[in-house]
Amino acid sequence: MKQLQGREEKEAVRWMNEAARIARSALCLRSKCGTVIVNGGEVIGVGYNAPPLDDLAHRSCLEEPVFARKQKYDRTCCMHAEWRAITDALKRSGAKIAGAKLYFIRINDEGNIQRSGEPYCTVCSRLALDAGIGHFLLWHEDGIAEYETGEYHALSRTHLNET
Ligand SMILES: [Zn+2]
Ligand SMILES: [Zn+2]
Repeated sequence: MKQLQGREEKEAVRWMNEAARIARSALCLRSKCGTVIVNGGEVIGVGYNAPPLDDLAHRSCLEEPVFARKQKYDRTCCMHAEWRAITDALKRSGAKIAGAKLYFIRINDEGNIQRSGEPYCTVCSRLALDAGIGHFLLWHEDGIAEYETGEYHALSRTHLNET
């Protein structure tokens, strides 16, 4: 994991703000998250959390009995912003997903950026790893951290077992 500073941090803040802008479109009733995937200074995929295909008929965010049984990695009911950004990139022909950087952010109801805790979602980490994403970036309390995707997956597995 690398704590970004200087010019790298400045660039990451720019992409995090872009991810926050995407998050405003989230259709999940429980959380608002956004993701942008960037390669060579170019956005190649974006995603916000929402039911599949944005179809509200598939939205089940407030169905408590189902929700209560869910594992920590899937406590959000909808498609995760990261999944959608990855599938978005895969749907764009010629998008260079190999080695790309994935920026994830959560916002509150007022649209303000929320700092992330430790990684824990092994569904996202597995998908990112398998798709060939190079780095996963989170904005923690102490700044923006850039994880190699393999490292991110290992950390997610560790924290998944902590609850
Ligand atoms: Zn939801
Ligand atoms: Zn996830």
